[in-house]
Amino acid sequence: MSGITHLTILGSTGSIGISTLDVVARHPDRFRVLALTAHSKADNLFEQCLSFKPRYAVLLDEAAAAQLSQKIAAARLDTEVLCGIEALEFVSSLPEVDAVMAAIVGAAGLRPTLAAARAGKKILLANKETLVMAGRIFMDAVGLHGATLLPIDSEHNAIFQALPHSYSGDLAASGVSKILLTASGGPFRNTPLTELQQVTPEQACAHPNWVMGRKISVDSATMMNKGLEVIEAHWLFNAPADAIQVVVHPQSVIHSLVQYVDGSVLAQLGNPDMRTPIAYALAYPERIAAGVDALDLAKVATLNFTAPDFVRFPCLALAYQALRAGGTAPAVLNAANEVAVAAFLDKKLAFLAIPRLIEDVLAALPVAIVNTLDDVLAADEAARATAQEYISQ
Ligand code: NAD
Ligand code: MG
Repeated sequence: MSGITHLTILGSTGSIGISTLDVVARHPDRFRVLALTAHSKADNLFEQCLSFKPRYAVLLDEAAAAQLSQKIAAARLDTEVLCGIEALEFVSSLPEVDAVMAAIVGAAGLRPTLAAARAGKKILLANKETLVMAGRIFMDAVGLHGATLLPIDSEHNAIFQALPHSYSGDLAASGVSKILLTASGGPFRNTPLTELQQVTPEQACAHPNWVMGRKISVDSATMMNKGLEVIEAHWLFNAPADAIQVVVHPQSVIHSLVQYVDGSVLAQLGNPDMRTPIAYALAYPERIAAGVDALDLAKVATLNFTAPDFVRFPCLALAYQALRAGGTAPAVLNAANEVAVAAFLDKKLAFLAIPRLIEDVLAALPVAIVNTLDDVLAADEAARATAQEYISQ
C-alpha cells in the first residue's frame, strides 16, 4: 500500500456518497477526506463533517451554506464552508486531492467531474450523465491530462474487472466479441402493461434489488438507466453500439459479462451492494474489505436471463438510437429524461409519458456536432426548454 489517499467526495449526502463514506470509515489508515459536497442538505453534511473532519465542505445552495457555516463554527470544526458551482470545481481540482468520487446526480455533475479530469485526478465515476452528455469531451480531457478513470456503476465496474488488465480501448485486439450489460428489469418487469399508466413515484422508486436515489430509481423503472449505461459503456470501453448487448437478469447477482472470441464469457458476481465497486475503485489495484456479505450461491440457487423487451421499455431503444445518432443526441436524450423524471416525481407527468416526451424532444431538435463543452451545454439547455414547453402544453 502506498500512502494515504486524499479524497473529494462530490454528492456525499446521496446514496453513493453515503456508501463511499461507509467504506472509507472502515479504512482510516488508507483514506482521508479533504472535501465533502452536497446540494442543500446542511444538516446531513454537518453530521458528515463531524465524523470525517474535511478541510472543505461545499453546498450548492448559498442559504444552506450560511446555515452550515454557523454549525461548523459552533462545533469549532476546522472546516471551510464554500458554496456554488465554482467551489465544486475548486475542490475537484485541489493539488492535494488524489481521487475524486463523482457522485452528484444528473447533468449537475458534469462541470465538477470535468474539472477533476482536467486536473489529472483519479476519478471514481458514478455520475454516468457526464459520459452520456459529453463523452468525447470528457474522455479527451482524461487522456490529455493523464487522469485515471475507474467506473463505479456496478455493471461497468464488473466489465472493467472482466476485461484484461492491459485493456487499452481496442475490443478486437483483446479478443472481445461483446459486452453483456445485465439489467434487473426494475420494479415493472412483469407489471401488466395496462397498469403502467397509473404507477406512482413511490412504486417506481421501490427497486427490487437496489436502494438508490430517486432519479436513478425512476430511470431503472423505465430502463432508461440501462440505456444511459449503454452509452456509458460505449465511451468507457470504446465499444460500438452493436458490441453492447443488454441481458435482463432479475437477481442482480451477475453485474455484467465480457464475451471473448474463443467462447469464454467472464462475469463478475456479488451481492447487490454498491460498496463492492466503490471499494474496488478506491483501493485499485488492491482489494479491501467493503462490509459486504459473502455471496451465498446455494442461497441464490437460480440465475435467470431474458432478452430485454423494447416495447415495454421504449427508453432503452431511444438510448441506442441517440448513441447511433451521435453528436448532441445523447445530451438531448439525457436532458429530456431529467425533465421528464422530475415531472413524473412531481406528479405532473404519467409514467408512460416519460418515453413519449423524450422521443418528441429528440425528434424536435436536430442533431449537431459536438466540438466544445458549450455545444453540449447549449443542447442540454435547448432540450430542457423544449421538454418543459411540451409538458406545459
Ligand atoms: P442521490 O440523489 O442519492 O444523491 C445525489 C447527490 O448529489 C446528493 O449528495 C445531492 O446533494 C447532490 N446533488 C444533487 N443535485 C445537485 C446539484 N445540482 N449540485 C450539486 N450537488 C447536487 O443520487 P445517487 O443514487 O447517489 O446517484 C448519484 C450518481 O451515481 C448518479 O449519477 C447515478 O446515476 C449514479 N449511480 C448511482 C447508483 C446507486 O446505487 N445509487 C448506482 C450506479 C450509479
Ligand atoms: Mg448500474
